[in-house]
This record gives sequence, structure tokens and C-alpha cells, in this order.
Amino acid sequence: MIGVSLLGATGSIGCNTLDVISQHPDRYRVVALTARTNLTRLRSQCECYRPQIAVLADADSARALARQLRITAPEVTVLAGAEGLQAAATHPDADQVMAAIVGAAGLMPTLAAVQAGKRVLLANKEALVMAGDLFMQAVRQHRATVLPIDSEHNAIFQCLPRPITAGLAPQGVRQITLTASGGPFLHRPQHTFATITPAEACAHPKWQMGKKISVDSASLMNKGLEVIEAHYLFQASADQIQVVIHPQSIVHSLVTYADGSVLAQLSNPDMRTPIAHALAWPERHTAGVTALDLPALARLEFAEPDPTRFPCLALAYAAIAAAGDAPAVLNAANEVAVSHFLQHRLSFSAIPDIIETCLTRLAGSVSASLGDLLETDQRTRRYAEQYVARLSG
Ligand code: NAD
Ligand code: MG
Repeated sequence: MIGVSLLGATGSIGCNTLDVISQHPDRYRVVALTARTNLTRLRSQCECYRPQIAVLADADSARALARQLRITAPEVTVLAGAEGLQAAATHPDADQVMAAIVGAAGLMPTLAAVQAGKRVLLANKEALVMAGDLFMQAVRQHRATVLPIDSEHNAIFQCLPRPITAGLAPQGVRQITLTASGGPFLHRPQHTFATITPAEACAHPKWQMGKKISVDSASLMNKGLEVIEAHYLFQASADQIQVVIHPQSIVHSLVTYADGSVLAQLSNPDMRTPIAHALAWPERHTAGVTALDLPALARLEFAEPDPTRFPCLALAYAAIAAAGDAPAVLNAANEVAVSHFLQHRLSFSAIPDIIETCLTRLAGSVSASLGDLLETDQRTRRYAEQYVARLSG
């Protein structure tokens, strides 16, 4: 039995992971489940999967969950806060850790799993964006394994000849191409962007996801974050990473080789495919996903992204060029902007403005320690909060 810890169990990736695990009860055992606030869902997950530990962010909620589980699942130990997350990420019975917390909040527990030498299934792209160099250094130092869950990176991983190694050129790779659905506003005129509502931004045409990544997909910042993610994960330079709009979301990404061959991974848009791939790797097993019906699809389209309506993508390339703490600044500014947008306190078109201003004003340190990056994250959040307050004041 393979022990699995799930960080962010109640979210979209967490629930999809439990769905795949349920299909293979003789293969996987759930060791830990964590959530921030969703006590009700975590409770029913605990009753169903009987983990050794369950974690909620605050101590009062954790005590309430422990009380509720006393009769129905008394074997579950309930923990709270950062220590609880650390325990879930490093549990000795966890062979694999699904890192599916959203945002910078996932960095420390994901890094803890890496430092414990775990096999880390990485959905939490913000952790890599914030601290990519340190993260990958820790992967090498502690002989951890990172398997990408993001569908594009998982696709690239599947199309590379060897597991993630030192750089693309030695593997004969010329370029990697990340596909992007284009999100809900692919054809929306720019003059209407200021009136975009959170509900419209979260209505993704192809994927059912958490709110933050849905807004990121709508602004193309998700693709920007993924370019940075690919930069660190595959040691690809910015000019080796191309983005192409592909509205059908069937081709999840492509690898172009020196000899002109292009390998791509195709599947229906369902996160259970990359999740099952990473759980089972290097083997394969079912994911509960229907097979592709190519004649029914009929057409697959590809187009260039529009840099005028979606400036976030270029900001991500700029952050790679600036290096150092710039990706951490970009990530923190984006998290603050998206959170205010979701609360109707900021217009959709102001999201790239905030990120660009923060990058210009705050990024600059070239070599950054983990402490520096956490400090940069906090400083950027304060600055972005003030910026939003000024806009609405
Ligand atoms: P979600 O909002 O649905 O779920 C987030 C999970 O993290 C929840 O369990 C929540 O309780 C937990 N969480 C949130 N903030 C936390 C905090 N401060 N401390 C502890 N736990 C916290 O998000 P999601 O859509 O499942 O995305 C999770 C991650 O996976 C993101 O980084 C996202 O970019 C990435 N990802 C998601 C998808 C997808 O299809 N949903 C695809 C690719 C990548
Ligand atoms: Mg993706």
C-alpha cells in the first residue's frame, strides 16, 4: 500500500485526487488530509478515508472537528496550523505528498515534504514561482522526487525521455510549448474588461477549478505562472518556453526536439488524468476519464496569445528575466489583486496594473534566501494592499 498525504484535500485538486484514490483502494492508503476552513468536507473525508491525521488551520476548528470525529472516526488525530501541516507533509507513512494548497501558503509545507525526501505531486505552482531556485535545490539535496500535476507540466513530463534532469538541451529538446485554453474572455472586447464580474471570471469554459486559479486563467496570469513553473521545473530558459492558445484543451502541451519531432500529450480536460499519472508513475492505471473521441472533436485550433488584452503573460516573462525575487513579487501582487477582485473591490483590468507596479517598485534583489523571499512576499502584499486602498479610496 502506498501512503498518500493530501495537503489541500478539500479543494478541487484534493477532491479529484481522492476520486482517483477511491478507484484503487487496494493500492493507496490516505495518511493525512488537510484543509484551511472547510470543516464539513474534511469531516466527511475523514469518515470515508480514515487518515491518521487531519489538519485545519485554526485551533478552535480543529478541536470542533476532533469532537465530531470522536464517535465516527476516533482513530483520526486532529492537528492545527503550520505544525499540523508540517506533520502531514512529513508523516513517516506518507510515500507521496499531494501539494494542492493554493497560493504562497503552500510553500512551507511543500518544502517540508521535499526536505523529508518525499515523492511530491506538485499542484501548488505558486510555491515554485515564489522560490523556484531554492525549491529545486532542495529537491536535489534531499533526493526528493517532484512530479508535476499541472496538466501542462505533466504533459511535458510525459513527453520528455527521462525524468526531470539537468536542462533541456542534453535531452535534444529545442522548445517546450504550453497550451492555454484562453479562458472565458478569449474573444471578449477589451473595452468591456473593466466590468468583468467574479462570476464571469470563474466560469471557465473547460475546467472546474478553485476560484483563484480560475481568475488567473481568465487573466492569463495562470499561464504566466506556468511559464515560470516550467522555467524552474525543467530548467528551461524563457526563450525555450512558448505559449499557444488552444481553446479545446485537448493537447495539454508539446515538446519540440532538435530533429523536428514534436511530441504532445492529449486527453480530455480532466485533472484526474495528470493526478492518476503522477500517483501511478512510472506505471499507469485508470483515472475514471473517458477516452478521447477524435472524430467527435473534429477540430483542434491553435493561435497566438493577445498581449494587449492579456498583459499578465508578458509580466511573467519579465519576472523570469529580472530573476531573484521578481517572481515572488509577481506572485504576491497577483494573489492580493485576485483576492480583492473576487471580493468586488477591484476591477479585473486593474489586476495587471498592480502586478506591474509591484514588479517595478519592489523587485530587485538578485540572490534571495528563503527568509528574504518570505519577507519580499509580505512586503509586496502590504504594498499591493495600499495600492488597492488608494484606488478605491
Ligand atoms: P481550491 O481553492 O479548490 O483548494 C485549495 C485547497 O487549499 C483547499 O483544500 C483549502 O482548504 C486549502 N487552503 C487554501 N488556503 C490555505 C491556507 N492558507 N492554509 C492551508 N490550506 C489552505 O484550489 P485548487 O483549484 O484545488 O488549486 C490548488 C492548487 O493546484 C493551486 O496552486 C492551483 O494553481 C493548482 N492547480 C489546480 C488545478 C485545478 O484544476 N483546480 C489545475 C492545475 C493546478
Ligand atoms: Mg495548468
